Amino acid sequence: MAGRIEKLFGIKYPIIQAGMIWCSGWELAAAVSNSGGLGIIGSGSMYPDVLREQIKQCKLATEKPFGVNVPLLYPDIEKHMDIIVEEEVKIVFTSAGNPATWTSWLKERGITVVHVVANTKFAKKCEEVGVDAIVAEGFEAGGHNGREETTTMVLIPMIKEVCGLPLIAAGGIGSGKAMAAALCLGADAVQVGSRFAASVESSAHENFKNTIIQTGDGATELTLKELVPVRLIKNAFYHQVQEAYKRDASVEELKALLGHGRAKKGMYLGDLEEGELEIGQVSATIHEIKPAGEILKEMVEEYNYVIGKIETL
Ligand code: NDP
Repeated sequence: MAGRIEKLFGIKYPIIQAGMIWCSGWELAAAVSNSGGLGIIGSGSMYPDVLREQIKQCKLATEKPFGVNVPLLYPDIEKHMDIIVEEEVKIVFTSAGNPATWTSWLKERGITVVHVVANTKFAKKCEEVGVDAIVAEGFEAGGHNGREETTTMVLIPMIKEVCGLPLIAAGGIGSGKAMAAALCLGADAVQVGSRFAASVESSAHENFKNTIIQTGDGATELTLKELVPVRLIKNAFYHQVQEAYKRDASVEELKALLGHGRAKKGMYLGDLEEGELEIGQVSATIHEIKPAGEILKEMVEEYNYVIGKIETL
């Protein structure tokens, strides 16, 4: 029986692929949507003309629903939003900002709006401003993250207590078993990032994909909280940040160290030393680069197997 998220988006499985800068272009989004999940184009790393082209390609590659993720910190956000409307994108995931800013504008234009939160305060705010569903993202997640450091295991039931919106769990979910755990906690669906970053269709550089499948436990950390908290791999750039902390670097010094385009350098151009490599803790459990459709199929099969076992207890 279709759940709230499958009905909201018109998809077969309650699996959403996360919008990830430099990883989720149209190839990945279309592959996930064609396999029964919801594919998302990550617009944060795209100039406006690139985003338009990516949406057009995605529409050619799939007839299934797909969405666009817009980080609200994006400098040219008005242009992105206009393109989304002009290209008739039906689903937008907003993140890294206040859901009050764009929700009504998008909804007035017939767009389903999902916002990413990491705490109960913003979950309640989403409900107040008319968001259609929320992604609750725990501490384990890669990339931008909340300051509270609440793990997915704690965050999902906490949000469920205060917010009645359809709930998508994110952070640490890369398998059918983790999906079953999240749904048992009360989530309606899951959002999966890191597992799809290491897929064939991910636009990440091969160096980054190969790094993801080689990481072990303790390989990532949530850092740079003075700027925007971000979980990244402990590479040479990360150690430069640690050195800066040891000498009590100011926010301005940290900004200068981060500079411009670090994420592109690492994840897209494959500079494993000087680049920023954003990935979740779950990377420690990812050992192979696979096609997105295969990843999704394996997740569904494992989920069904685990739920079948739970039902016989
Ligand atoms: P930087 O300021 O370090 O660099 C901006 C990067 O984005 C550059 O590589 C640039 O490409 C590209 N870019 C695309 N459009 C624009 C634009 N209109 N103006 C300037 N640069 C643009 O930022 P980050 O790379 O760390 O982050 C980029 C965006 O992604 C931000 O909006 C950020 O909020 C978002 N983000 C989202 C994350 C998530 O988890 N969803 C995680 C991290 C970032 P070029 O090098 O070719 O100039």
